[in-house]
Parts: sequence; structure tokens; C-alpha cells
Amino acid sequence: MSTVSPLIAGNWKMNGLTHSLDELSELARLLTTGESPRALVVVCPPATLLAAVAAQGASSGIIAGGQDCHREPHGAHTGDISASMLADAGAQYVIVGHSERRTNHGETDQIVCAKAEAAIGAGLKPIICVGETEAQRDAAEAESVVSAQLAASIPDAAEHHEVVVAYEPVWAIGTGRTPTLDEIDEMHNAIRARLVDRFGLSKGESIRILYGGSLKPQNAREILGIGNVNGGLVGGASLLAKDFYTIISAV
Ligand code: PEP
Repeated sequence: MSTVSPLIAGNWKMNGLTHSLDELSELARLLTTGESPRALVVVCPPATLLAAVAAQGASSGIIAGGQDCHREPHGAHTGDISASMLADAGAQYVIVGHSERRTNHGETDQIVCAKAEAAIGAGLKPIICVGETEAQRDAAEAESVVSAQLAASIPDAAEHHEVVVAYEPVWAIGTGRTPTLDEIDEMHNAIRARLVDRFGLSKGESIRILYGGSLKPQNAREILGIGNVNGGLVGGASLLAKDFYTIISAV
């Protein structure tokens, strides 16, 4: 782990009903009775639970985040949620450009960039996701794909302290497969180099780069121990307080 303070974010995706707040209470209990976590802890529930997570998590230091936002601040966009609405509900972070949004909703880097800009404008920190498909990795294009996504998805005006990057190889999300430790190390070093190119040495080095994709209690310690891995974005394993806490404790 580098000197950047780590962050572990849980992405509940389209999972969670009111009773799921019991898991949040259990996570809060574990976080407040166990050893103090070294990582910032963010939980990104479905929008229906966001205000409850923000209110309930506050006393134990759990920070609420959204899973997506619209690029416009308001208007005729039925079913969408703006960044300021997420902030109003208590969110401090929002995931943008998750591969499920890129694939299922046709989100391009330009759309992701506009969403990140909207998030920053509303006072939220966007967690900007990038990652290659399996075919792109097989074709030895992983690094160039991720570099291009990074360049086009971070808004021009963004300051280093306003953004978080998440490297999520698409083929590792929800599959139980992960890149090797060397592959993660190489990609995070490449992302760090791009951030340093863009923001300069000290600013580029201070941006968190999270790893996401089948991060589990069993592999968290070794993955989170890699130099330029500054935390994780956790899907499936964030749904159970015990598993999520084990990952947080692995930092
Ligand atoms: C994710 O959805 O961001 C993710 C990393 O999912 P999982 O941990 O389930 O692979």
C-alpha cells in the first residue's frame, strides 16, 4: 500500500431492501467494536436506500455513495438521478463509468466524463471506473485501453483531490476470477504513471487507485498489499457485513 490513505467502497448494485440495513448495522458494529479501520469505508447502496445508509452510517464513520448519476443537474430525465440529488440524500461519493453502465447503458468515455464533472459540481467525489475486456487483454491491449479510458473519462477541470480511479477488469467483475498480482501491479503502475503525467508528481501520486473485480476476504490481503493499490471497489462481497469487514480489515 502506498502512502495514499486507503478507501474501500462497497457497490451493492441492484441489491438491497429495507431489511438489508441490518447488514449495515452489523458492519457498523464490527467497525466500532473491532480495531479501528485503516481505510475510509464507503457503501454505495441502491438509490432507494441512500438516505437511510447516510443517516445510519454516520455514527460509525460509514460514508454513503451513489452508484451512478445523470450528467445534467435536473430536467426531463424520467427515472434518472442527478448528482445534487445524491448529495442531498447524504452521499459524498458516486461511482461513474462502471462497466455494467458502460455495457448495459451504452455509456461512452464522454458520457462518463460528463457525469464525473456533474458529480464534482455537486460536491461529490466521482469514483471513475476503467477496465479492459477479456478480449482486449488477450490482444495485449489492456494498458492502452485503460489509458485511453482514463484520459477521456477524467474531466479536464478536475483537481487531483476531487477524483478517485477504480481499475476494474471487466472479465473479473462478478466472475470469481482476478488478474495475477503482477498483472494488477503492472496496471496500477501504468495508471499511476498516466496520473503523474497529467497532474504532476505529487498530485498524481496522491490520487487513489482502487482495484475492483472479485475482491474477496480470501484474496484481499495480497491484492490490497500491492504498492499502487490504494483500496478496493467491492461488489458481491460487500453485501455481507462479515465479508466486507474482513476486506476492510485486510488493509
Ligand atoms: C463491482 O461491481 O464493482 C465489482 C467489483 O463486483 P465484484 O466484486 O462482485 O466482482
